[in-house]
Amino acid sequence: MQPTLGWGLIGASNIARQYVIGAIRAQPGNEVVAVMSSNAERAKAYATENGIAASCASVAELLANPAVDIVYISTTNELHHEQTLAAARAGKHVLCEKPLALTVADAVEMVRACRSANVVMATNHHLRNAATHRKMRDLIATGAIGKPLFARVFHAVYLPPNLQGWRIDRPQAGGGVILDITVHDADTLRFTLGAEPVEAIGFTQASSLAQNGLEDGVMAVLRFDNGVLAQLHDAFTVKHAGTGVEYHGDAGSIIARDVMTQRPIGEIVLRTANGEQSIAVEHENLYARAVAAFCAAVRGEGQPSATAEDGVRSLATALAVVEACRTGRAVSIAPLRL
Ligand code: NDP
Repeated sequence: MQPTLGWGLIGASNIARQYVIGAIRAQPGNEVVAVMSSNAERAKAYATENGIAASCASVAELLANPAVDIVYISTTNELHHEQTLAAARAGKHVLCEKPLALTVADAVEMVRACRSANVVMATNHHLRNAATHRKMRDLIATGAIGKPLFARVFHAVYLPPNLQGWRIDRPQAGGGVILDITVHDADTLRFTLGAEPVEAIGFTQASSLAQNGLEDGVMAVLRFDNGVLAQLHDAFTVKHAGTGVEYHGDAGSIIARDVMTQRPIGEIVLRTANGEQSIAVEHENLYARAVAAFCAAVRGEGQPSATAEDGVRSLATALAVVEACRTGRAVSIAPLRL
């Protein structure tokens, strides 16, 4: 029997309610023991609604709870930094939502604080846990498309009305489609290609949803250190495009549809000189897989599926896209010393 691990939720969020609480409870010996919201009434209501034993209205109180071994941070983006530092000081392991922070320097500080405190820190990039993306990574690594040359990411979706809050009107909370979606594209491409983005360029759009200087659409290009050019199309405003990703190499192409999603769905086709082949995939819950890998890392068995360092690199890439769009110039992504 594995020892019980108690999780404290920092942030009474939608993502915790929809996916992560269930993913934690799917791990033997793990339970959500407390939730913190900045509003005590909301915390209490959220705890009742989700069957969580304790609620509180401060991070300090949550971290003082001896039943909490791990925190899952899913507050708005500007809060992740100081909450992670506090958790590290309290000796709690940290699963943090993306983007890790609003600056690379803050994200690096989070990684170093967790390292010094000897606690595991990971980034909740769910997509690399999808069977589809793992299969595409294997195909590319084993030469199925020859030398990879190009990638195209189709991640233009419609932001559901219940999420049309801070993402579209609060720049200070880290809103905007680039920090919300492009950051996931960056992680997924790094994972699948096994390469690092080195340069970014792009243009944003603010159409029907975004306010206060934020963007609700972006088209960007990333150059990777293996020469691959990746084209990204991310939006909050597109209702009927569907999602997908394509990898084009000198000997073949991978075409995947419905794969930039939280759900375990999607299809992959491989096209080569031999014709078109549908690739079999055994789908599994992305969040449960991520939490399982995180729990194993806490037990000293391996790495989380997306490490804290991965979160710094995806943030650095997204911020380079932000800067490139702001200035209209290509922006280099400096190698990170972590
Ligand atoms: P929510 O808007 O649901 O929650 C964020 C914060 O907003 C909460 O911490 C809460 O503050 C406050 N809040 C939420 N609902 C209400 C309400 N009804 N009234 C007042 N305040 C409210 O955010 P998301 O769950 O969409 O995102 C949270 C984090 O998770 C972000 O960092 C986001 O980028 C990330 N995310 C990651 C995903 C992934 O798949 N990896 C998917 C979706 C989000 P308080 O806690 O103080 O009550």
